[in-house]
Amino acid sequence: MEIKIARDAGFCFGVERAVEIVRKKAQKGEIYTLGPLIHNPPMIEKLEREGVFPLTREAEVKGKRVVIPSHGLPPKKFEEVLQEAEEVIDATCPFVKRAQDMAKRLEKEGYTVVIIGDSEHPEVKGIAGNLKNSPLIFSCVEEVPQVLPKRIGIVCQTTMNISRVKEIIASLLDKVEELKFVHTICNATAARQQALRDILKDVDGVIVIGGKNSGNTRRLYKISVEAGKRTWWIERSGELEGETFDNIKKMGITAGASTPEWVIQEVVEYLEGL
Ligand code: SF4
Repeated sequence: MEIKIARDAGFCFGVERAVEIVRKKAQKGEIYTLGPLIHNPPMIEKLEREGVFPLTREAEVKGKRVVIPSHGLPPKKFEEVLQEAEEVIDATCPFVKRAQDMAKRLEKEGYTVVIIGDSEHPEVKGIAGNLKNSPLIFSCVEEVPQVLPKRIGIVCQTTMNISRVKEIIASLLDKVEELKFVHTICNATAARQQALRDILKDVDGVIVIGGKNSGNTRRLYKISVEAGKRTWWIERSGELEGETFDNIKKMGITAGASTPEWVIQEVVEYLEGL
């Protein structure tokens, strides 16, 4: 079987950076992340063996060395953690930090801030928590209210789909007098999706590697299925045992932004060994 790995697959810059930061810090003793550092169970298990543990409740930070994950934290919560923890290790992705800073700048310039994103996502809560006034938050055209303030300044959750953002902005145009848009979408997710689309025509099937709790991996799986390809979504190579891969001459491989390279290699080696 021939194997074709998508050009962009696996760890994005922000996740790789966060993992490097915690690994280095864990060499000096146990550290704790506020929630899972990334949405990839095999990597979380590996990190636990190196002394990096997820905290399930923020109340548990007292006296611990605590990591702020790549999607950031609202400053009020950051401050609380700073008071309680023995040490705070900030692994906020610089792209997320930029979205926070741009939102603050728009507010300072007198715009009512609009965040295009999922209001329940920790990253969006982090951007909103950096502002003096509550921002407006929409994730789709249907959520846009009929009446809007005259001057609005827009930032996006870094993982938003650009087509969706364009649709939302188009729906705002006849409701406002002035609109300023700061492009804060990070292209890691879009690049993985495009790289998968680019190999789809050449392959007979696709293995998507990534956590079952990872939204961007789910989107990769959907793209492959919608293209009519036989698709396997796995977290580890062991899940392929027993598969016969009938009629698959060329297999495409892609992986979500939280999937480490060693998990991808494990799958490649498994397929090569068949
Ligand atoms: S997807 Fe982009 S913004 Fe999010 S952690 Fe990765 S590099 Fe940073």
